[in-house]
Amino acid sequence: MTKTLCKPCAAALAASGKTVKPIAHRCDKITCSACGRRRFGITYEVTGRAVRKKEGTKE
Ligand SMILES: [Zn+2]
Repeated sequence: MTKTLCKPCAAALAASGKTVKPIAHRCDKITCSACGRRRFGITYEVTGRAVRKKEGTKE
């Protein structure tokens, strides 16, 4: 799902274990969909998957 996020919110999502991938590369005035504020940010692709361990043991 794509979301327009400001930097702090994108960082918070990433910290909570989601994959936050920037789509646009330039900052624009956006309305952040997480905090609802009008500020500078970018569009991100947010993949909200919980951390899975399906890779087997490689160590
Ligand atoms: Zn925000």
